[in-house]
Amino acid sequence: MSVSFKQKLIAPCGMDCRICIGYFGYMMSDKKRKNCCIGCRPRNNQCAFLKEDCKKLTNEEIKYCFECEDFPCENLKKLDKRYTTKYEMSMIENLKYIEKNGISKFIENEMERWKCPKCGGVICVHNRKCYNCGI
Ligand code: SF4
Ligand code: SF4
Ligand SMILES: [Zn+2]
Repeated sequence: MSVSFKQKLIAPCGMDCRICIGYFGYMMSDKKRKNCCIGCRPRNNQCAFLKEDCKKLTNEEIKYCFECEDFPCENLKKLDKRYTTKYEMSMIENLKYIEKNGISKFIENEMERWKCPKCGGVICVHNRKCYNCGI
C-alpha cells in the first residue's frame, strides 16, 4: 500500500480507515459484510460512525476537522468519547497530532501502533484482531 494511499485512508474526522473493521470487510458483530468499506475518502461519503451529517465535510470545504472553526464540534466530541472509552483511540488526539506534526509522521506512527507482533499485518481497532493471521 503506497504512502499516498495510506494518506487517503485517514478520514477528515481523524479515523484511520485502515484499522477499521469495515475496511477489513466485517461488521461490528464480526460477521462478514457483503462488501468491504473502501474508506471514507475513497468512497467519498461519511460513514455511520460520524452519525450526523456535516455539510462542511460533505461539501469538501475542509480536509481535516482541525481546519474547522467549530473543531472539535459536539458531534466529533461524542464520537471521540465513544472511541476513547471503548477502543482507547482518540480521533481528536489524532487530528491534533496531524495538525502539529504532519500526516506523514502520523502515518509512520500508525504503522507501528497497529502492527501485528506476529505477522506484521494490521490490527483492527475495534476488536484488536489481526485479520491476516487471525490472532
Ligand atoms: S466504515 Fe467508516 S471508518 Fe470504517 S473504513 Fe469505512 S469510512 Fe472508514
Ligand atoms: S469539526 Fe467541523 S468539520 Fe468536523 S464534523 Fe465537526 S463541524 Fe464538521
Ligand atoms: Zn497477524
